[in-house]
Parts: sequence; structure tokens; C-alpha cells
Amino acid sequence: MTVTLDDIRAAASRIAGHVVQTPLVEDAALSARLGRPVWLKCEHRQTTGAFKLRGAANAILSLQGKVRGVVTASTGNHGRAVAHAARMLGVPATVCLSRLVPANKVQAIRDLGARVRIVGNSQDEAMAEVARAVSEEGLTEIPPFDHPTVVAGQGTIGLEIGAPEAVLVPLSGGGLAAGIAVAIKALSPRTRVIGLTMENGAAMAASIRAGHPVEVVETASLADSLGGGIGLGNRVTFPLCRDLLNEVILLTEAEIAQGIRHLGRAGHVVEGAAAVGTAALLAGKFVPAGPTVTILSGANIDPVLHARVMAGATEAA
Ligand SMILES: *Cc1c(COP(=O)(O)O)cnc(C)c1O
Repeated sequence: MTVTLDDIRAAASRIAGHVVQTPLVEDAALSARLGRPVWLKCEHRQTTGAFKLRGAANAILSLQGKVRGVVTASTGNHGRAVAHAARMLGVPATVCLSRLVPANKVQAIRDLGARVRIVGNSQDEAMAEVARAVSEEGLTEIPPFDHPTVVAGQGTIGLEIGAPEAVLVPLSGGGLAAGIAVAIKALSPRTRVIGLTMENGAAMAASIRAGHPVEVVETASLADSLGGGIGLGNRVTFPLCRDLLNEVILLTEAEIAQGIRHLGRAGHVVEGAAAVGTAALLAGKFVPAGPTVTILSGANIDPVLHARVMAGATEAA
């Protein structure tokens, strides 16, 4: 089960008109400082505030209407994307949430038109309810990363960034990095594709090192969208990330905060997950050898937290 350039091209024509072709803008301050052009792929300007709409839209369109409805347990950018894409495409969406999910997040998902089902006291119980809805009610799960149509949707970004010397990609479950790497390595084999994530809970990095999917202990991070494991039964994103990424770089909370601040001063309000590429460039953990593109993956940061980070804070809570 894998993903090819043809799958990504098919995804691009499927989702065209349903997603924004986001701009690629130069980070002039960073280009001047590093002596190499640095470009920002502005997926924080994507509808719903994150790139995940690409994968969700491609996954739902690939079902060709032959479904009773779609279901997910995500409270974050994937949940928003599934809710938005489903409403846009006229498919009923259900989002299973635990009682621990804050009321404002529950309301945000309802506002996007999804049915919310509150079950249990943990994310695991919410995921068990998804499995039940799939087997007993015939709903179709849209997974957050480990599915070929989701990976192909995220990979459409790789068709929109040309052939730079390097691409810096935020990395969690690996749908974004795997999709971009498949597209880029097919179109521009010499381009380096680098995964970036936080030190506190880098499941894909640890899995690549171990040679198989492993679990890691997580702590709170400014890059909250990069939390979560890759799934011990991972089938699609682990092999692709293992085979195609040139390197994985880990960032501290202070470095991620610096990335958020640098981008904020340039008028890009981004969440921590989106700032990891910039953070690596500022910290000298990635030294560009030519034109470099960094993926600004999302904008969904609590405004109060963003203001605190801009004022110098380096911690999530
Ligand atoms: C989901 C997400 C990521 C990571 O994507 P994966 O496909 O899970 O690796 C990065 N940034 C943002 C903003 C996200 O929502």
C-alpha cells in the first residue's frame, strides 16, 4: 500500500476548486541573513487554517459518494478539515470526542457542521467509538495520516513548490512529509526533504531509528499539532518517511518559540508546528546550501498563547 506521483496528480485534479492554492512568499529577512533564498509555503492561509483540508478533501472525494457518512476522533486540524470537507461535499460527518475536550473546541467543530458525539473520558475511548461506528453503523473513517488518499492529498503541496535545494516539512504522523517527499523525489530527485519535529515526543524520528513503529512519551509542546504517535500498525507513512526523508531534525521549545516570533514579526501568525522549519534555520540546525522552502503548515494557535510567545514566552502552558 503506497502512494505514487500519479496518485498525487490525480488528487490535485480532484481537489482543485475545493482548496486554496496557497502562495509561496520569500522570507526576505531570513534570505538576507543566511545568504540563500528562503521561501515560505503559506498553508497557514489554507481554508480551515491548515493543510489538512487537502488530505481530507481527497479522501472524501475518493469515496465517490458511496458512503453513509464519515467519522473521525480528531479535535485538532484534521477534525476541522474533515468537518469542513464533508459539509462542502454534502457528506454527513461525525466527530467523536471525549468529555475532556474543552467546550470551545466542541463548539468549533459543531460550527463547521459536524455531528459531535461525546463519549468516555479519554482520546482512546473516542477512538474506540470511531471503530464501533465503522463496524456497527457503516460509517467510513477518515484517518489523520496513515491512508493513501490522505497522503496523496497532502502531497499536492509538493506539486506547488518547484525544485528547491531543500524542503523543510513539519513531521508528526508523517502524512504531510510522506506526500511531499513522494512528489518532490519524483520531480526533483536531488532536492533534500527534511522532517522537523519537537524533541518532546518525536514518534516518527524514534521509529525510524528503531526500524519499526514505536511509542514515545509525550509532554506538552508549543507544537501541539505534532503530538500523537504514528500507530504501531502503521502501513503507509512509516515506510515512506523512512525511505524518502534525508534527515529528521528535532527542535527545543525555545527554538520553536523563536520561529513563531520571527514569523509573527513578518506578519505570519502560525502555530508552533508550522514554525519548526524556520526554527531550524534560525538555530543553525539546518544550514541551507541553496534555495530552501519551508512549509508553514497551520495557523491555529490560541491568540492568547501567540501573544505570550511574541512577548517572549517559550512554554506551552
Ligand atoms: C497535522 C499537522 C502537522 C503534521 O502532519 P502529519 O501528516 O501528521 O505529519 C503539521 N502541522 C500542522 C499544523 C498540522 O495540523
